[in-house]
Amino acid sequence: MITKREMSGVNLYSELVAIYQRLEDELIRLNPGCNACGTCCNFVKFDHVLYTSNIETDFVTMHVEVPDFNVSSNGCPFLKDNQCSIRDFRTLGCRIFYCNPNYKEISGDLYEKYYRKIKDLSIKHNIQWKYLPFLDQLAEFKSNRKPVFV
Ligand code: SF4
Ligand code: SF4
Repeated sequence: MITKREMSGVNLYSELVAIYQRLEDELIRLNPGCNACGTCCNFVKFDHVLYTSNIETDFVTMHVEVPDFNVSSNGCPFLKDNQCSIRDFRTLGCRIFYCNPNYKEISGDLYEKYYRKIKDLSIKHNIQWKYLPFLDQLAEFKSNRKPVFV
């Protein structure tokens, strides 16, 4: 039998997947374009930091094994042969970022909109909101994994 706590986790992540799906539908319409070169997942090369919420990091770590990695190298450990190896579970920031300069103007608003939806999910499920660099959170989850809804 599934417990109330486990059910909370199931609902949380099915709602997160629904949010991601709505975003994907919007992105299909916007069509920012990508040749899947993987360069933007190399944070050093792109000189940016991927931030994410604890809910999303938990969603990733409950589905995939996190390989050993060095936080200071500032490269995503899920980038394999210049491809994302966890595409179905990747974070909001991964989903919204495109290097197309014509799309950059609207990406900020789009990010705010979906960031808000995920934050509302956190409030709804009584989860303390944490929003930190993805690699820092991954390292923390790897050393001390606890589901966020406990
Ligand atoms: S999770 Fe995937 S899309 Fe996101 S930074 Fe890592 S390799 Fe890139
Ligand atoms: S968004 Fe740009 S840099 Fe990132 S994978 Fe696509 S083409 Fe490459």
